[in-house]
Amino acid sequence: MAVLWLDEIGADDLEKVGGKGASLGELTGAGLPVPPGFVVTAGTYRSFIEEAGIDEELFAAVDVDVDDSAALADAADRAQELILETPFPDDLREEIVASYREVGDGEAFVAVRSSATAEDLPDASFAGQQETFLNVTEEDLLDRVRECWASLFTQRAIYYRQEQGFDHSAVNIAVVVQQMVDAEKSGVMFTSHPSTGDPTMIIEAAWGLGEAVVSGAVSPDNYVIDRKDRSMDVTIAEKKVMYEKDEATGQTVERDVPEDKRTQRVVSDDEIDELMDLGERVEDHYGEPQDVEWAIVDGEVYMLQSRPITTIDESDGDAAEAASGDTASKGLTDGSGVQTAEGGGGASDASSSGDVLVDGLGSSPGTVSGPARIVTKLDDLAKVGEGDIIVTEMTMPDMVPAMKRASGIITDEGGMTSHAAIVSRELGVPAIVGTTNATTVLEDGQVVTLDGEKGSVLEGTAVEPDEETEPVEEVRPQSPVKPMTATEVKVNVSIPEAAERAAATGADGVGLLRTEHMILSLNQTPAKYIEENGEDAYISELVDGIRGVADEFYPRPVRVRTLDAPTDEFRQLEGGNDEPEEHNPMLGYRGIRRSLDRPDVFAHELEAFRRLYEMGYDNVEIMLPLVNDAEDVLQAKELMKEAGIDPEKRRWGAMIETPASALSVEGMAEAGIDFASFGTNDLTQYTLAVDRNNENVADRFDELHPAVLRLIGDVIETCREHDVDTSICGQAGSKPEMARFLVNEGISSISANIDAVRDVQHEVKRVEQKLLLDSHR
Ligand code: PEP
Ligand code: MG
Repeated sequence: MAVLWLDEIGADDLEKVGGKGASLGELTGAGLPVPPGFVVTAGTYRSFIEEAGIDEELFAAVDVDVDDSAALADAADRAQELILETPFPDDLREEIVASYREVGDGEAFVAVRSSATAEDLPDASFAGQQETFLNVTEEDLLDRVRECWASLFTQRAIYYRQEQGFDHSAVNIAVVVQQMVDAEKSGVMFTSHPSTGDPTMIIEAAWGLGEAVVSGAVSPDNYVIDRKDRSMDVTIAEKKVMYEKDEATGQTVERDVPEDKRTQRVVSDDEIDELMDLGERVEDHYGEPQDVEWAIVDGEVYMLQSRPITTIDESDGDAAEAASGDTASKGLTDGSGVQTAEGGGGASDASSSGDVLVDGLGSSPGTVSGPARIVTKLDDLAKVGEGDIIVTEMTMPDMVPAMKRASGIITDEGGMTSHAAIVSRELGVPAIVGTTNATTVLEDGQVVTLDGEKGSVLEGTAVEPDEETEPVEEVRPQSPVKPMTATEVKVNVSIPEAAERAAATGADGVGLLRTEHMILSLNQTPAKYIEENGEDAYISELVDGIRGVADEFYPRPVRVRTLDAPTDEFRQLEGGNDEPEEHNPMLGYRGIRRSLDRPDVFAHELEAFRRLYEMGYDNVEIMLPLVNDAEDVLQAKELMKEAGIDPEKRRWGAMIETPASALSVEGMAEAGIDFASFGTNDLTQYTLAVDRNNENVADRFDELHPAVLRLIGDVIETCREHDVDTSICGQAGSKPEMARFLVNEGISSISANIDAVRDVQHEVKRVEQKLLLDSHR
């Protein structure tokens, strides 16, 4: 038998069906309302690879030095290819398809989920990457099953097993195939209080499929119910988005919640009663508190998953250790407005000794306490729960969703302009970068307090968690009238997700939208992405990402920079082993020099701009990074024309990021730029020969150095003579001292970080008024 039906499975079948399969079987057997389905067993995977004779080659392929990222990427590609390209034997194909046809009369949309099994692994979820496909039909079913098998051999999974010393051949994988529930509402339920174990149920609920709640895409309603008398506290959240099945394509899509349902309560009193009855049955069945995923459709309640709560604080605060695993991917509030940091790291039971454990550069302000979550390069990011503090060497673009869940971020590496610093500021998450040793000094689960202003990490809980604040509200101007300034004050955006928060500042536009964060978050190099999905898909990704920001600000201008990612960042992505290995990527193949070298690739970016203009986004401006002289600018201008963009009709300009560009700005003005924008992160690095990301020389990174200021002052003067606008979009634009200097020099606009816009507006106003006063005295 290649498959086992859920009602044939019990908790003892873990080895055959993996943790997820065993849990669903157990619940089905207990008579709980679980959607029907079956499991393609781990043994089936095993015989598939053995009978096809690919097993030995597979295990040999992944026996590599995992610290060699190119070798690791090749190993993952080869192993996955072996599985994906091996056809199913006829009898196996028939058995799986026949089983599918028994689910929901053969027309069901099913969820296909991997369920890894590994005798010795402490957390099998690391062994496989828990690949999940929703809304699958017969057409794709077998491919999806194979993709779940192949997910045993992602780079992360191979890396993890190798690092832990586990034998690749000892890990197996089962696949759960289960009818999808087209949830009208769904959420999670903790059958007892997740920190204290008290008889208090906590239910979180939102519209549509549960993925929106589990992934943190939506703030759910929160119901805290006393199990003794069923008295209840309800907090209704504003639910802006929901996930649902697109009727036309069958794909899961994110949609806006209709206006009238956003602040409507999701579950009724009767449904709460039903959920509680179920919760009590599940807890009784297992004999311990459970964390349950549920869904409601047509008034029927379904249970999708149940796991023991691992975060109940039985000792005195060290249960954080237990908070790893799947439950850590969710955070919830107990209705008090205070986040219960999973792992018992809440304010109630811990205190700080005041000892500084590590220190670094305070790069995003705010003070928070919570359990440290050490994240290594290829870890499963699901381990980062709501309220955790991420501790890592350096953040990567694919960490952004986890960074959103985290309450704080600490890195070993990096300076004030590193990925971690830029993204955490945009998300409004306190951060410290460049500690050099946080990942070795701090322990996973250890409760710490991070001061993003001073740059210090203290032992224990030093602050009561704040009332939950809305990041958009934090930055909204407090006074009803924003300071009117002649110098425009704009805002920088690196991740499209921050656009709403950025627009709420009241800024006069976007001074820098970094497209590379959009591209890096695809997790594939542009070349790889295009190879797999086609040119059009790549262009659409760009159009959609830029458009989100351009919409948010319309008609305020949005200056979009063409791609500027150093090769070492591209090398981290899938397909990255084709990138050149450079001794010094900061001086290498990036920015306009790469675009001009590969006009065929640059053409896709330009096509995205052309489409945006065609769609009417006339507020989009094109900005060219890392140019050195007029020649660079003229070549780019020619390519714009070839792409169907009229440089005379559109606003476009260049960044001033190298001393050469500062000294050549007159030629660039003659070449037709509309604006020049100081990228002081790079201009400082190249003027002072100080690597911007090297914490060892961070104290020498001085954007206010007289040499840098002199270059800036001269460029502003030349540009004024040629009627070219000037701006700053480097980190220094957020510093009041720099704003003072620039306004005095006559800059046209300043672009600041989201959290600095308000202060810069006031500083600019003050300087402008002083200039006016002085001129009258
Ligand atoms: C700069 O160099 O100042 C800049 C804004 O660009 P980036 O930080 O993306 O290199
Ligand atoms: Mg730069």
